[in-house]
Amino acid sequence: MAIPEPRDDLGLREGYHSPQVDVAVRLNTNESPLPPPAEWLAALTEELGRIAFNRYPDRDATGLRQALADLHGVRRDQIFCANGSNEVLQSLCLAYGGPGRSVAVFEPTYALHSHIAHLTGTEVVEGQRRPDFSLDLDVARDLVSARGPTITFLCSPNNPTGMAEDPTAVRALLEAVPGLLVVDEAYGQFADWSAVSVVDDASPLVVTRTFSKTWSMAAARLGYLVGPPVVVAALERVALPYHLDAFKQVAGRLAVQFVGEMEQRVGLVVRERQRILAAFAGLPVVAWPSQSNFILFRPETRKGNEVWHGLLDRGVLVRDTSAWPGLTGCLRVTVGTPEENDTFLTALTEVLR
Ligand code: PMP
Repeated sequence: MAIPEPRDDLGLREGYHSPQVDVAVRLNTNESPLPPPAEWLAALTEELGRIAFNRYPDRDATGLRQALADLHGVRRDQIFCANGSNEVLQSLCLAYGGPGRSVAVFEPTYALHSHIAHLTGTEVVEGQRRPDFSLDLDVARDLVSARGPTITFLCSPNNPTGMAEDPTAVRALLEAVPGLLVVDEAYGQFADWSAVSVVDDASPLVVTRTFSKTWSMAAARLGYLVGPPVVVAALERVALPYHLDAFKQVAGRLAVQFVGEMEQRVGLVVRERQRILAAFAGLPVVAWPSQSNFILFRPETRKGNEVWHGLLDRGVLVRDTSAWPGLTGCLRVTVGTPEENDTFLTALTEVLR
């Protein structure tokens, strides 16, 4: 008797994990620093009592999908929901990737796009962003025409670099892709343009969104996409039966009733982001502009990893991206509450002194 080895192609591939350290100020995973509204929690608690827990949930998540369709001004058959937008991305790779197929990514970008592709046996073809991390449309067009990926991933605003894609470039790339163009808008509410406005039944464009960031619901694990009904139907074929529990369906359906509160939280984060960037100007760091709830920066006087440890010693956890390809020496900080940001800036000033 022996425990078999896992699939060869998993190799030494590591999961994508940021350490969950018990510190006072956690600015490492781009969550919302604020909880959802108390009124949402009250409404949720009330509705929970009406769930028939002995029964499987609505397999089509009708109420939730309709609420999301109304939010975006699209139809319900254009919405697919899953347990976090990572699971939406996984469903896309299961349905449109797999052995003999490839996905295209433009690095540096969200690591899970290539990670999930690998896990689903899909080849990853990589293009590089420009030194300022913007998308080079010529590089992108050459790559997709040479390699023929069935999925081309963009991330807008791009994690971990922070800037949204140029709408003209997104439209131009949509014309060029031989397969699906997936625009990951996990931080979409921070940008002034959304690719959702370009989605229609005939275009190979899908846009993914999440409740984990601006909706303050990372614990609920809920994400979705807006796309053509044929894509939604394909994703339903790879999703497990009843994959979306009743609790989550209610939580998401009620959340979108509080869109105004969500936008207020976005406003606070944007103001705090500007304050952090202004403070960075007086410190020996290079910081990149951001249209999201995080900032990529590179300390100039000490190694990124040393600064990361120095911050941790002072109770502040940021994301150590200093050894990631293309991001040598860089760290990524999530915008927190005003108090958390003060603690971060004080700690960073001390570490860089
Ligand atoms: N896309 C991007 C760009 C992200 O940064 C994240 C969260 N780190 C996700 C997707 C996944 O979010 P979730 O699975 O929590 O919806």
